[in-house]
Amino acid sequence: GTAPDGGDCRPRPPISFELFPPRTDAAALALGRTIDRLADVDPSFMSVTFGAGGSSRDRSLTLLRHVLEHTRVEPMAHLTCVGSSHAEANRLVREFLDAGITSFLALRGDPPAGADPEAGLGDLRSAAELVQLIHRVQEEREPFGQAGIPGIPGATSIRERPRPERVAVAAFPTGHPRSRDAQQDIDTLLAKEVAGANLAITQLFWDADDYLGFVARARSGGVTMPILPGIMPVTTPARLARLAELTGVPAPGGLAASLAADPDPDRQFAIGVEHAARLTDDVLDGGAPGLHLYTFNRHEAVLAVLDRLGLRTRAYAGTERNSRTP
Ligand code: FAD
Repeated sequence: GTAPDGGDCRPRPPISFELFPPRTDAAALALGRTIDRLADVDPSFMSVTFGAGGSSRDRSLTLLRHVLEHTRVEPMAHLTCVGSSHAEANRLVREFLDAGITSFLALRGDPPAGADPEAGLGDLRSAAELVQLIHRVQEEREPFGQAGIPGIPGATSIRERPRPERVAVAAFPTGHPRSRDAQQDIDTLLAKEVAGANLAITQLFWDADDYLGFVARARSGGVTMPILPGIMPVTTPARLARLAELTGVPAPGGLAASLAADPDPDRQFAIGVEHAARLTDDVLDGGAPGLHLYTFNRHEAVLAVLDRLGLRTRAYAGTERNSRTP
C-alpha cells in the first residue's frame, strides 16, 4: 500500500510520459508548458508518437528536439516501419540519431485503413526487424561505443549526456487485435527481445490482472526485459469511447458508467484520476517495474494520479538516477 503523504515504504518507481506532436502553434505553446510541468517530476524519459506511415516525422522530430534542448529528460522516439523500404528505414533512424535521439520505441505500425493487410507492408514486416535495424545503424555510426576512441587519449563523445540507448517495443496485455491467440503475443514479444529490445511498454489495459497475468506468461515464455505498464487517466466518456475504438481494447463498463452518470467535468476528472490511481497502485503492488503514463499532452490528470499515490515528489529521483548511472 501507499501513503498519500509520500511516507511510502517502497522507493519511487521510474516514471515516464508519452506525448504526441502538436498540430498547431497554439497547441505547441501549451505543450511547452505541459512539458515543463512533467519534467519537474524527473521522469526517466518522455516518448513522442510517430504518425502512421511517417506522417508526423518532422513534427515528431521538432518535439523530440524540444525535450532534448529544454529539459534534462531523455527523449524517446516512436518509429514505425510499415510501408517503408530498408533504405528509407535506415535513413529515418540515422536522421533521428543525427538529431541526438538515442532511445527508440520500435513499432511495426498499422497499414492504412482499408489496405490489403498483405500488400504494401514494405521491406520490414515486424517491429522485431526494426529493432535489429536500429541496433545495426547505431553500431555502424559508433563502432567504439561511448568508451572513447581507442588510441586517442581523452577523446570521447562530444555529447554531454549519458547514452541510454534504450530500444523499447510494444506489448499487448489483452492481446493484439490481429493476433491469433494469447501465445502469439508472447512469442512476438520474445522475438523482439531476441532482436535486441531492452524494454517493453504496454498498450492500455483496464484490469491489473490483465497486466500481471500477461507479465507472468511472458516470464514463463522466456521474456526477461522490464515490461512497463502503460496507464492513461481518462476523464471524459467521449475519450473513453474513442480509445476503445483506437486500441481495440473494450472500455471498462464500470468507468464508462460512472463517467456517463456525472456530467460535471470536475467530478469526471476526479473519477478518471481515481480509477487510474487504483490501477497504478495495483500493478505496482503486483511488481510492475515502473509506470508509463499516456498524457494526451495534458499534465493535469497524470500529475493528479501521481499526487494521489504520493509519487510526485522529486525526493526519490536521485536514487533512481544513481541506479542507472554506471
Ligand atoms: P509487432 O510486434 O511486429 O506485431 C504486432 C502483432 O502482429 C503481434 O502481436 C502478432 O500478433 C502479429 N504479428 C507479428 N508478426 C507477425 C507475423 N510474422 N505473422 C503474423 N502475425 C504477426 N502506432 C503508430 O503508428 N505510431 C505510434 O507512435 C505508436 N505508438 C505505440 C505505442 C505503444 C506503447 C503501443 C502499445 C502501440 C503503439 N502504436 C503506434 C500502435 C502499433 O503500431 C500497432 O499496435 C501495430 O498494429 C503493431 O505494432 P507492433 O510494434 O506491436 O508490431
